[in-house]
Amino acid sequence: MNASPPSADAPLIDRFARRITYLRLSVTDRCDLRCAYCMPERMEFLPKAEVLSLEELHRLSLHFIARGVRKIRLTGGEPLVRRDMVDLVRALGRKLGDGLDELTMTTNGTRLAEFAGDLAAAGLRRINVSLDTLDREAFARLSRRDVLPQVLEGIAAAREAGLRVKINAVALKGINEDEIPSLVEWAHGQGHDMTLIEVMPLGEVEGDRFDHYLPLDAVRRNLESRWTLTASDARSGGPARYVDIAETGGRLGFITPLTGNFCDGCNRVRVTATGQLYMCLGGEGRVDLRAALRSDDPDGALAECFARAMGEKQERHSFVIDRPGGVPAVSRHMSTTGG
Ligand code: SAM
Ligand code: SF4
Repeated sequence: MNASPPSADAPLIDRFARRITYLRLSVTDRCDLRCAYCMPERMEFLPKAEVLSLEELHRLSLHFIARGVRKIRLTGGEPLVRRDMVDLVRALGRKLGDGLDELTMTTNGTRLAEFAGDLAAAGLRRINVSLDTLDREAFARLSRRDVLPQVLEGIAAAREAGLRVKINAVALKGINEDEIPSLVEWAHGQGHDMTLIEVMPLGEVEGDRFDHYLPLDAVRRNLESRWTLTASDARSGGPARYVDIAETGGRLGFITPLTGNFCDGCNRVRVTATGQLYMCLGGEGRVDLRAALRSDDPDGALAECFARAMGEKQERHSFVIDRPGGVPAVSRHMSTTGG
C-alpha cells in the first residue's frame, strides 16, 4: 500500500471544543462468535462488496492522521476474521512516531494464536482481548461458541509475542457477576490490566439486556469490601477510569456509559467497515466517507465530510437501560459501529 499521505491540515475540533485524536476503525462487521449481549445468533452481515478495501481503510486512516488523530484502534466485528489485517497493521505501523502515537486492536482472541507473532512484527504493541468469563460452559453459553481454550491460547501467544494485553469484560448480572473478583485476580496474576464495561443498549438481541445489566458502581463497592482500591491518574486515551488494586498488584478500569457519563472529555469518532463516520456511539448521526473517498475529488470531499461531522457531533449520549423491555438507544449493533 503506497497511498501518498494527505498534507497536514487543521485539527478536528467539534462545536463543544473537543479535539478528536482517537479513531476507532471497524474493519469488518463479521464475527466468528455471537455474544448474546452484542448480536443475535442469526445476525445479518453486510455484503462484502460494501466493505472498504484494505487500501481504502489505509487511505482513510492517513486522512485522519493528517487531521490530528494520534491513536487508532482496529476493531469490528472481529478484526482478525479479515485475513489481510496484518497488512493494514504493517502499513499503519509505519505512521507510528510519524503522526500516530498508538495503534491497537480489540479482538475476541479466537485467532490470536495464529496472528499474534505477525501482528507484533507488523508494529502492534498493545492489544485488548475481550474475555467475560473463564468458565468454559458459561463462555460457550454467552458467546454461543465453545472456544474458551482457543482464546486462552491466543492470549498466551500474544504475551509470548511481546504484546501488552488488556482484558476487557462486560459485567453481567447472573452471568459473570460472581466471577468478577477471580477474573480480575487471574488477569492481574498474568500481568494483564483489565477493564470492566457496562452493557449498552445497542442493536436488537434475542434477550432483554436489562435482565443482565450490572451497574459498575455496585461492582466497585463489592471489590472495595475485599481489596484496597486506589484511584489512579492513568488514562488510556479512552473513557476508562482506573484504580490500582494493592492486593492483586494490577490496574482495573471501569467504563461506565450508564452510571457515569463521560462525554465531556470525548475525543473519539468511529468509522464502520463501510466507511460511515459516526460521531457518537450513542447517536444516529453519520457522514458517508466511502462516497467521499470514491468521488472525483476525495481530498475536497473528505474535508467537507470532516467539517460536517465536527459541526454535528452531539454533546452526549443518553443511554438508558435500567428498566425492563427498553428499546435499544440506537438500532446499530456495537459490532457495526466498532467497539
Ligand atoms: N470482536 C471484538 C471483541 O469482542 O473484542 C471487537 C469488537 S466488540 C464489538 C468490542 C467490545 O464491545 C467487546 O469488548 C465487547 O464485549 C463489547 N460489546 C459488544 N456489545 C456490547 C454492548 N451491547 N454493551 C457493551 N459492550 C459491548
Ligand atoms: Fe463478536 Fe466481539 Fe460482538 Fe462478541 S462482542 S459477538 S466477539 S463482535
